[in-house]
Amino acid sequence: MNLTIGWLYGAKMNIYGDRGNVLALAQRARWRGIEPTVTEIGLGEPIPDGVDVFFFGGGQDQEQIAVSADLQGAKGEAIKTAVEDGAALLAVCGGYQLLGHEYRPHDAPPLPGIGLFDLVSEAGPERFIGNAVVDSDEHGELVGFENHSGLTHLGSGARPLGRVRVGRGNNGRDGTEGAVYRHAVGCYLHGSLLPKNPVLADWLLTAGLRRRHGDVDLPPLNDEVEHAAHRSAVARAVKTR
Ligand code: GLN
Repeated sequence: MNLTIGWLYGAKMNIYGDRGNVLALAQRARWRGIEPTVTEIGLGEPIPDGVDVFFFGGGQDQEQIAVSADLQGAKGEAIKTAVEDGAALLAVCGGYQLLGHEYRPHDAPPLPGIGLFDLVSEAGPERFIGNAVVDSDEHGELVGFENHSGLTHLGSGARPLGRVRVGRGNNGRDGTEGAVYRHAVGCYLHGSLLPKNPVLADWLLTAGLRRRHGDVDLPPLNDEVEHAAHRSAVARAVKTR
């Protein structure tokens, strides 16, 4: 069995250590004897067939302008088709915003998204920066770091990833953080997220592998280090809120 990770705009959308999510997905596959292939999908490059898990990291407004234009048409449609077909996806911050209907930056015209998530984002007057802890019905306690001015508003067709316990989340008002659609997860949690949230990492891996390989169950790993890092980050978040 092999695994293909489609890293969307890795050169442009890769701030606050978000590449750590790609490293975590690849290493957790290797630890199970599954050979990962990481395919970076840059500007002007098509979505290859057979991507099991997509990753789309964060980026500043300036990078989002070019990426938004590049996503329009066949490329964005190919991502949506893959997710509808069962591919897994994690998008963080700027990537998350561009998978909604639109992101409205401070100093640029509105940027069209691809409408994978039923949501709209707009740059707000305040920058939300700090540790964040989110309680997710499906994925349990999640911990990360947020740094965004974007305010994201979920539409009726969007399910939140969870409720904010520490931090500001989607918009600092409605108590939600992130969005989930099928096996696609969008959120504002940098950190990077997956090394300290191994349950979510394995959920993405399992979902992506099942699309091509049928009923896959990943053998458990010794996640003592990951869980210790998670606990430490949660304690820091609670202490500094
Ligand atoms: N430019 C977006 C915002 O500030 C996303 C930033 C990011 O990806 N951290 O909300």
